[in-house]
Amino acid sequence: MSVAEPIVLAVESSCDETAVAVVAGGRRILGQAIASQVALHAPTGGVVPEVAARAHLRWIVPALEETLATAGIGVDRVDAIAVTAGPGLAGSLLVGIAFAKGLAWVHGLPLVGVNHLEGHLYAAWLDPGDGAGGEPVPDFPVVALVVSGGHTFLVAMPDHLEYRLLGETVDDAAGEAFDKAGRLLGLPYPGGPAIARAAATATGPAVPLPRAWLGDSFDFSFSGLKTALRRVVEGELAALGRPPAEEGGLLPDERVAALAAGFQESVVEVLAVKTLRAARETGARTIVLGGGVASNESLRARLAAGAAGSGTRLVIPPPALCTDNGAMIGAAGHRRFLAGDRAGLDLDARPSWPLVRPAGAPATRRPPRRGAAARAYEASRAAEAGRR
Ligand code: ADP
Ligand code: MG
Repeated sequence: MSVAEPIVLAVESSCDETAVAVVAGGRRILGQAIASQVALHAPTGGVVPEVAARAHLRWIVPALEETLATAGIGVDRVDAIAVTAGPGLAGSLLVGIAFAKGLAWVHGLPLVGVNHLEGHLYAAWLDPGDGAGGEPVPDFPVVALVVSGGHTFLVAMPDHLEYRLLGETVDDAAGEAFDKAGRLLGLPYPGGPAIARAAATATGPAVPLPRAWLGDSFDFSFSGLKTALRRVVEGELAALGRPPAEEGGLLPDERVAALAAGFQESVVEVLAVKTLRAARETGARTIVLGGGVASNESLRARLAAGAAGSGTRLVIPPPALCTDNGAMIGAAGHRRFLAGDRAGLDLDARPSWPLVRPAGAPATRRPPRRGAAARAYEASRAAEAGRR
């Protein structure tokens, strides 16, 4: 292996993108492929786990082949295999994990299990591939905001792989809030980009909607905002004599645009103000953003203005590296590989693997809550054993 620039082959299948990438030195993307399931899940307006897992199984080999073809290398040139082990959908994660294990075993390569959220953070260390050789990598200390479909949190990063949780959402993730608001407004799935597009067409003032500041904390809450939006939409639909949103009731385009703009402003303002304050209070030299919502132009512009005003660097990956991709797992996997992290062939999916434990949380994990599915499974196993 090249000691300076180990090559990591990374696999990501935690949710609804089947993604593979080869990354050199944790920074240079030699090749990558992303098979998106957006079109597959659009009719249901959300990801159906079983459908997602099957699609991963279908697309994972083509994604590997395309990645290696673009990179122009074979697996023989690879130094380690990295794979997302959680958090995410269990069935989806297992497809990537089993595939990565197979590759590692057949080629005699070390295997590294990566936390998907760490991947979103490390996307900021990737060369954005704009041909200019890229921005310099983030300087520590870093404050990082991860805003995706499933997660929203703010961490302080004093150094590589070190995290202190500053705050997180107490209810919906920012992307989830965008998706739910999109459905209320009758916009296509996923709601985030659709709301951003609708907001951009607003000609009048944005509809003012509430912001949840939660005092001085760095926590976030978006469910009150969603309820406020629902009330306005329901009121306006009723006034027009149209059916409720759930029954397909639609507002005129200009009202949708004004409401989308108001919703986006509320989310963006809280995210930006808290992130900038966290950077100030922790003395961060760089602010890093990751997750699908980080591709929101309004959020990017707002943070860029704030960071410029305070002399803090801001590193936001290009939109294609903000949403789920394999390269970010390669970047985080590279760091974990250098740190000596190795997974065995018993690597298992960790559907709710936290990146960092909240302060004061017990070091040992509580046993998972016994759900109806677990009880049904055990009962069926017992019945099977009894028959034998
Ligand atoms: P996850 O890993 O949790 O599936 P991703 O990191 O792939 O999430 O991000 C997907 C989320 O990002 C979706 O909720 C989507 O609505 C949101 N999103 C994508 N683009 C934008 C945008 N321009 N503005 C706001 N939200 C966006
Ligand atoms: Mg993600």
